[in-house]
Parts: sequence; structure tokens; C-alpha cells
Amino acid sequence: MAFEQILYDVTDKVATITLNRPETLNLLTAGMIREVDEAMKMAEKDPEVRVVILTGAGRSFSAGHDLSGRSANRQQEEPGATRPGSVEYRLDYEEEYYYEANLTIRNLKKPTIAGLRGHVVLGGLFTAMMCDLIVAEENTNLWNPSLRHAGTAGEIMHLNWDLGPRKAKEYLWTGDSIPIRVAEQMGMVNRVVPDGRLEAECRRLADRIALMPPRMVQWTKLTINKSLEFQGQLHAWDFHFFVHQLSHMSDTDTGWRAEAAKHRETGGMKAWLDYREGPFREQAKREY
Ligand code: ZN
Repeated sequence: MAFEQILYDVTDKVATITLNRPETLNLLTAGMIREVDEAMKMAEKDPEVRVVILTGAGRSFSAGHDLSGRSANRQQEEPGATRPGSVEYRLDYEEEYYYEANLTIRNLKKPTIAGLRGHVVLGGLFTAMMCDLIVAEENTNLWNPSLRHAGTAGEIMHLNWDLGPRKAKEYLWTGDSIPIRVAEQMGMVNRVVPDGRLEAECRRLADRIALMPPRMVQWTKLTINKSLEFQGQLHAWDFHFFVHQLSHMSDTDTGWRAEAAKHRETGGMKAWLDYREGPFREQAKREY
């Protein structure tokens, strides 16, 4: 299969999937998400592949979802599908592209490694965290500011599993980015590597795992993932996905979006960001 928005390579038992829209900081389009899904399934089926690396071209892994073409995508492909803007439309879209596609990565039998640098924001963060192991350069910005624009932590509430509930609340309620060393200390990230070393360190880790008997690696992953499921991880994610849909319908969300849209109309994206970030920049200047 020819890919347009990702690169796919298999070398010496390791498949590497690279998000390849660096000019947009790898904003995730529906097409790119579908290609990643396809590539993951190819890697799963390929007997040559033992480990999968997911990374991004350019200076950032992914700055989040690309919302610009969302309506067009679905309307073109599915004439007669639900009305854009309706609750049903949003739910179907987010379920397919933001939830189930991420579960494909999470539930892959083969081990996965995310290689991160630069911005890893919102949807980009959810996708990265679906991988089994995380290697990140020092410059990595792990950031989920969803509450700053009246959301509820996004479609998948992964942070409490990655960071522990107390830290998760702190970072979600302030909208601050998670310092990469905090992420490492809390076990959210396996290894922090010097800038410029990402590809080499991901590869080194992948090569070491590839030396292990592949079935035993996969069965170990199965048991560890099952232990999270026995603790209710997938039920909690299902629950949160619907809480998130509820948030989209709330006066809080629609009111914020209407106000933010006015700022964007008059001052473009910068004004939109200033509207979102302004109060928090002032607060950040204060000492403890
Ligand atoms: Zn959403």
C-alpha cells in the first residue's frame, strides 16, 4: 500500500512508522490516522517484524488533531452519513478516529515504542501514550491544555494511568505542560535522551527487544495489558469517552468556542491562542 502522510519502513525485524507532515508539526488528519492504523496492522501481520517504532518527521512528534478538514473528510466518503455538526456525527467521527484507532495501537500484539521530540500535544499525546514504551528527547513538550478551552482532558483519559491520579489532576486542572523529567520520574516516559539522539536510541531499544523470543514478548505484553484491564482501564476510557462527548454539548464548551471564534475572526490564530492562553501566562509569572 502506498502511503501519503506517513513513511513505513521495515529493516532488520523493526518496522518504523513516521508521521510525515512536518510542515504542520504532524497535525493528525483523518487520512494520516487511517494510514497509521493500516501500517500498524501491516506490521502486526508481517512475520519479519518483531517491534514497531512510531515517530514523527521534523521537529515535533505531533501538535494534535487537524480539525480543519474534518467535516469534508467524512461527507465525501460517506454520502448520507450523519449531519455534520450533530451529536451523532461528532460521536461517530471521534469514536472511529480518536478512540478506536488509538486502541488499535494499544492492543497491537507486537511491542511498540513511541519516539518523541518537540510538541506532543492533545491528540498527539493520546496516540503517543498508546505505545508500550516511550523514548523522548530533552526538548519534548508533553502538553494537554484541553481544560483551558473548556474540554475534559480529551477523548481518552490516559493521564491518570500514565502519571498517577494526583499528578494527572494537577496537570489537567492547570493545563500546564508536563516537564519531561517529571514524566520520566513518574514512569510516563521510559528514557529521556539528549536532543538529536532519538532515532538511534529508539532503534537500540527496539533491537534489544527484537533479540527476545517474539511470542514471549507478546504474551508478556498481553498479561501486563490485561492487568490494567482487570483494574478497569478500558471501562474507565469508555466512560470518559462519553463524558467527553457530553462536554462538547455543554454551554461551557459552546460558549467558549463562540467567544474564541470571534477572536479568531478578528485577529487570526494568534488572537485565538492569546484568548486561550492569556490568563494563564499572567498566572505563570507569579511565584509560589
Ligand atoms: Zn472531542
